[in-house]
Amino acid sequence: METKWIKMLEEEPDLEAIKEAGRIIKNGGLVAFPTETVYGLGGDGLNKEASRKIYAAKGRPSDNPLIIHIADLADLEKLVKEIPPKAKKLADAFWPGPLTMIFEKSEQVPFETTGGLATVAVRYPNHPVALVFIKESGGFVAAPSANTSGRPSPTLGTHVYEDLKGRIEMLLDSGEVGIGIESTIVDMTVEPPMILRPGFITEEMLKEVLGHIDVDKTTKERLEGVAPKAPGMKYRHYAPKGELTIISGKSEHVREAINKLLIEAKEKGLRTGVIGTEENIEAYEAHVKMNAGKKQDELTVARRLYSMLREFDEEKVDVIYSEAFSENGMGQAVMNRLLKAAGHKVIQV
Ligand code: AMP
Ligand code: MG
Repeated sequence: METKWIKMLEEEPDLEAIKEAGRIIKNGGLVAFPTETVYGLGGDGLNKEASRKIYAAKGRPSDNPLIIHIADLADLEKLVKEIPPKAKKLADAFWPGPLTMIFEKSEQVPFETTGGLATVAVRYPNHPVALVFIKESGGFVAAPSANTSGRPSPTLGTHVYEDLKGRIEMLLDSGEVGIGIESTIVDMTVEPPMILRPGFITEEMLKEVLGHIDVDKTTKERLEGVAPKAPGMKYRHYAPKGELTIISGKSEHVREAINKLLIEAKEKGLRTGVIGTEENIEAYEAHVKMNAGKKQDELTVARRLYSMLREFDEEKVDVIYSEAFSENGMGQAVMNRLLKAAGHKVIQV
């Protein structure tokens, strides 16, 4: 299949192209599209054949459920058995936006979309292209991140094209996304609600609206024999091909330790990479250096993270050392993804 790659500006959605994309979805086809978090691989969420195609295109395990994207709050009712009052509050506070909520699913939602679960994940994204596209597609677009399973999520149209060229009918490309890591997921079927995946909407922001909220402990550390509650979180996602290790500690100790490791790796003939803060990056002895932004600017680190991991693959780097980043606010989400990419390999110095 030929993939039509259509470029446009985020602020000027190309209506003709998006209408065509909507027709593709209504006919059971696949279209990748930008959201404010990462690019999504979209299909009709109420059509089980379309959901099967999404899993096949990504090589995604079929027990890893999809998020259904809506573009009108009223459409939520069709997908769920009931809307708990707390979900209404969160929707009022954060939708449209980078928050996904889990509900008991209605009959209309096929089990193919929910990976066999009786619950459904729903998000109302805030991106001009996504919103028009979802409306043109009939209102219910199931979409996981538009990467091949196991690769870092795509934050640029070119990432999507690299991974899914020839597997989808169309790619709507509006350049780099704003946030760069996936939505916060909150399970609304338990009391108190529970964060299953950290993201731009932080624990503190959710607490301000709801009072108490639980956090799935597996988002912070690997626990022997305990599976994450979001099925997708158990897979080693976001992995670069090179072996990634995180070095944590005081800034000057980290810098020293990383340089020592880099020199050792070079002596073994390995091609080396480093992810460092703007303050430190010049000082490193690596072949490939990635500047993650200023230490306290977790938003920039988040936006660059997946791009940096993909760059290392292109540069054919064998070993990568990364500084640990601040866990303030969205830093928690950044460290959650970085730890997964590193298979939880951390050296404390
Ligand atoms: P992605 O869209 O690629 O970021 O993946 C969607 C994420 O949402 C995966 O980690 C899924 O496991 C999670 N998810 C989707 N639906 C549910 C659900 N019904 N219950 C728990 N987690 C879900
Ligand atoms: Mg994903």
